[in-house]
Amino acid sequence: MALFNRWENDLKSVISLNSVQKQALSEFNIDLNKPENFIEESNCPLCNSHSSTCIANKDRYGIELFTVICKSCGLLYSKKHLNEWATSAFYTKYYRSIYTSSLSAEDSFFQAQINHGEQIYRWLESHDIKLTAPLNVLEIGCGAGGILVPFKLAGHNTIGIDYGDTYLQYGRNQGLTLIHGGIENLLNLPKFDIVILSHVIEHFNNLSHELDLIKSICNHKGIIYIEVPGIRSIRQNYSGNFLLYLQNAHNYHFTKKTLCHLLSLHSLNPVHVTESIQALVINEPCKKAYTSDFIAIYSHLIRLEIFFKFGLTNGLFFTLKNAIPNGKFRTFMRYLYRRVCAL
Ligand SMILES: [Zn+2]
Repeated sequence: MALFNRWENDLKSVISLNSVQKQALSEFNIDLNKPENFIEESNCPLCNSHSSTCIANKDRYGIELFTVICKSCGLLYSKKHLNEWATSAFYTKYYRSIYTSSLSAEDSFFQAQINHGEQIYRWLESHDIKLTAPLNVLEIGCGAGGILVPFKLAGHNTIGIDYGDTYLQYGRNQGLTLIHGGIENLLNLPKFDIVILSHVIEHFNNLSHELDLIKSICNHKGIIYIEVPGIRSIRQNYSGNFLLYLQNAHNYHFTKKTLCHLLSLHSLNPVHVTESIQALVINEPCKKAYTSDFIAIYSHLIRLEIFFKFGLTNGLFFTLKNAIPNGKFRTFMRYLYRRVCAL
């Protein structure tokens, strides 16, 4: 059972869909969304615990999606996800149509990628990363590859890899070297100095395996740049609506702490991580040990839905907290929680 009634599966989308998205969703449901195409995670992909509890049963498109939280470490993840074959088919045929509502890459999309690449370039420089050309730069899940453009223009050797042929072809037409497929296709290439994972690791099917592959294709002390939508930034980036944040393509959801915990277990060193999440990671062992984030994340999700349903802001919350005596404030919050549960 989901944490709140609103998070139960009613097959309804929480966003308005255009005709391209509706068509793609309809074809996806007939073609791939079948029990035999899914595999079930029996244990937590981060800490291997088998103890989890249900959080939500749908995503923003009204697709059935079983999101659970590990009671041991606090990782939020999809209990069932598409198998390897169906994942490849999903990203080749449906992903861009459903998620970007466009069948092909367009100039505006490519330009937005270039702008994003410039932001990443500046962010790395602002964190004292020396980008002296030529470095070997890889972007995994590159789409049309626009993020690589600022790196290529600065004299670096750039390669992108993705499953979406139409978007790859657009980037190739702009002079980029882009490869179709997964990380396995890169094992025979020279190692990379910088690996960019912009909104990618939450899509992986086998988190441990993919991280080990990334580590193996990256130079020792090489840079891994990671961006994922953080659980603690849902209020800013998804209007506080947890269902808007959930997407069937995302198999894992992170806080700064759970991402650092995961990376440390793979001998990767997260040296600078924000809650939004942007992470600067070095390919070297991590000396810090991380503990569970379960209670903090579980409480955060409850508070998130209370804020969303009652239109609370941080400012209003703290004004009330300061104005109402402690005992009465806890009673007030419990009352709001019961109201939200009843909705
Ligand atoms: Zn766990």
